[in-house]
Amino acid sequence: MNATGKLVIAIGALLGAAALSAAVVPGVPVLYYARFSVLTPPGPVEPPPEAFRLIPRLIQARHKVAKGEDIRSIAAAYGTDIRSLQSTNSNEFIFISRGGYIRVYNGKGLLYEVTAKGETLDGLARRYCGKGRDLKGFKVQIVEDNDLPPSALLVGHKFAKGDRVYLPSVYIDLDTYRMPLRTFGRISSRFGMRYHPILKRKIFHNGCDIPMPIGTPVYPSRSGTVVFAGWKGGYGNTVEVKHKDGSMCRYGHLSAVNVKVGDTVQKSRSLLGKVGSTGMSTGPHLHFEIITAAGKSVNPMAKIGKK
Ligand SMILES: [Zn+2]
Repeated sequence: MNATGKLVIAIGALLGAAALSAAVVPGVPVLYYARFSVLTPPGPVEPPPEAFRLIPRLIQARHKVAKGEDIRSIAAAYGTDIRSLQSTNSNEFIFISRGGYIRVYNGKGLLYEVTAKGETLDGLARRYCGKGRDLKGFKVQIVEDNDLPPSALLVGHKFAKGDRVYLPSVYIDLDTYRMPLRTFGRISSRFGMRYHPILKRKIFHNGCDIPMPIGTPVYPSRSGTVVFAGWKGGYGNTVEVKHKDGSMCRYGHLSAVNVKVGDTVQKSRSLLGKVGSTGMSTGPHLHFEIITAAGKSVNPMAKIGKK
C-alpha cells in the first residue's frame, strides 16, 4: 500500500466506513459491495480490492491481471493467500499472464464451485474435512460462513449446480502427478517385467507405454524444470522434468520436442512435445516414467493423483 492508501485507512478509522469508502472508490461506496456475495456472479461492477479487505462478508470477482502483478501481490491486495487462489482456480500460477483472469475472493481456503447436481452439505463436508478435523464442527462452520439457514444442518441440504461454497481452511494440493496426455485409451505396456518386442528377451520396463497417434500433445505430469530435452538413445526424442522434491519424469519416443533445458513448465499446461515413435519403438506411443529423488523408477499409474 502506498502512503495515500495508509492515510485513507487512517482517516477511515476516524470518520467511519462511509467516509472511507467515498475516499477509496470515488462514486461507488465500498459498502455498495456489501450486498455482493460469493453466490453473486462476478461483475458488471467489480468490487475493488479495498472492498474485499474491508467487507467482512465473502465476496468474489474475476480479477484481470495487470502489468507487474504476480500471484503474491494479488493475494495481498484482496486479503487472501496464495494457496487459496491456487486451490480456487485449480492453478499453481507458476505463470501468470497479463490480461488473463483469475478468480479472487476474500476467504482463506477453497471457494468450491458445485459442478454436479445433487451435491449435499454432508457430502462436501465429508470429502473436504481432512484428517484430524472434526466433521460436525466443520459442517457448522460451513453453514455459518456461507450464510446457509441453520436448518441446513438438520435436513440434507442440497446445493444447486453453479453454487459457490466457501470451505474454510481447505486447500487443494496441486503439486501431484497427473496423466501427461489429455486423452488416452489404454496402456500397451505396463511397469514391470515384460518380453521386449525388439530385444526379444524378458526385460524390466521402468515406465508405462501409452499408445496415441503421432502428434498428440504431451504435458508435464507435474510442474518443474526441464533438465533434458533431446535425443536419448533407445528413448529417442526425450524430455525430462525435475520436480521441487528432486523426483523426475521422463517422456520418451517423442516426434517433436517443444521445450529446452532450463525451462520452467507447469503441470497439464506447458506443451512439452508430441507423441512419436522415435528411438527403440514399434509404434507411436508415449513412454512415461517416474523416477524418485533416490533414483528409483516407480509405477507411474500408482502415482497419479499423489506425490
Ligand atoms: Zn516404455
